[in-house]
Amino acid sequence: MTRFLRQPSISMRLAAATLAFSLLVTVLGTALMLAVRYRDDVADANRRLQEIGRSFVPSLSTSLWLVDKDRVDLQIDELIQIPGVAHVRLKSEGTEIDRGHPVADPLLRHTFPLSYDEAGHFDLGTLQVDFGRAPVIAKLEDRSVGIALTTLVTLLATSLSLLLLVRLWVTQHLEALARYARHVTVEQLHSPLDLHRGRRRSSDEFDEVVASFNRMRERVLEELAVRARYETELEEHRDRLESLVSARTATLEMQALQLEQQKLELQRLANTDSLTGVLSRRHFLELVSMEIQRSRRQRQPLSVLMLDVDHFKHINDNYGHATGDRMLTVVADTCKGVLRDVDATGRLGGEEFALLLPQADAMSAWLVVERLRNAVEKTSIVLDGGETVSCTVSIGISELRDSLDGPEALLARADAALYDAKRAGRNQVRSSRYA
Ligand code: GH3
Ligand code: MG
Ligand code: MG
Repeated sequence: MTRFLRQPSISMRLAAATLAFSLLVTVLGTALMLAVRYRDDVADANRRLQEIGRSFVPSLSTSLWLVDKDRVDLQIDELIQIPGVAHVRLKSEGTEIDRGHPVADPLLRHTFPLSYDEAGHFDLGTLQVDFGRAPVIAKLEDRSVGIALTTLVTLLATSLSLLLLVRLWVTQHLEALARYARHVTVEQLHSPLDLHRGRRRSSDEFDEVVASFNRMRERVLEELAVRARYETELEEHRDRLESLVSARTATLEMQALQLEQQKLELQRLANTDSLTGVLSRRHFLELVSMEIQRSRRQRQPLSVLMLDVDHFKHINDNYGHATGDRMLTVVADTCKGVLRDVDATGRLGGEEFALLLPQADAMSAWLVVERLRNAVEKTSIVLDGGETVSCTVSIGISELRDSLDGPEALLARADAALYDAKRAGRNQVRSSRYA
């Protein structure tokens, strides 16, 4: 019941409707029944009136004919005792007898003629009988409360029974459906919906609803199964794609690494002289440019040497080109051995080398170079026949000046100093500062 009051429901609306309907039907039904009773009362009064006319009037007429006044009074008294008769008035030859209370608006009024017809026809007077309305109305009033109460109680009992049946057959199943729909989970969808309505002979709308719901439930389950399959396939595709991508990425990374190694190798080859392993001409000149700038920034000295093998043509001519190559390698190795780690050696072409000595002025370069010249002089190569071949080198030194010296000017001055060394008889060292 509290549920009915809490929220508007079918039961609640049905209760309100049946209550209103009961009240209306009670009012109308009571009015109708009272009207029927009123009609019956009027008919009853008419019957009595006719009875009076049949039995009472002849005997009263006889009493009047016999001028039996006492009997007339007695009969009039009897007449007024008849239920419903409110007023009686007898008029006969100047006399008038009134019994009861005169009624202005009687229910029925009839005036009987009084006559004696035994030995001819003699008019004796008239008898007016009034049936009162007030007793009928009072009786109806008494009955109306009973009728209304009976009707109302009957209707309410019927409505309550109807409500209970509606609750039993309809609303409790609707609530069960709503509860199920509110709390249903995917797992519960696997078992069919059952409203537990017991055994019935014939199916009804709820069976139709439950059957439709179960069909919908099966379709949803099929759809979920299809989706799960799609998701699994999607997962597999994604895994395959991911492994493909990672394999391709590994290959690309490997290729990139190889490319980087090849690039470094190419760079190394481009920067290195293939015969002697010292720097190539191009790379050496780049290094000189950079070192010049650094020395200027740090205000440090820098020296460049030009080295040329003396009479190298003779070595080629006398021992062959291969021996000449070996000799060039020995000279390059000797340079690398004598110089510091920060120094650099490059092959400018033919049997001409150049050396870069950072942080060394011409004087300190001279000392290094003399050491180098001595080392080369003392180095020799042994030919297959056991013959030894050695060579000497001439070296020109050039030191970076404060003015805007470029690599070309620096090397040109070293070359000029080298030329001086050659002219001085070879196996010499000359500096452009002291030339
Ligand atoms: P100088 O003392 O005046 O320098 O005389 P030189 O004979 O050393 O000079 P020249 O310029 O007359 O000879 C250089 C020779 O070096 C000529 C060339 O054939 C040779 N030569 C140049 N490059 C190479 C090389 O890579 N290998 C060999 N074996 N010989 C080379
Ligand atoms: Mg030369
Ligand atoms: Mg030479």
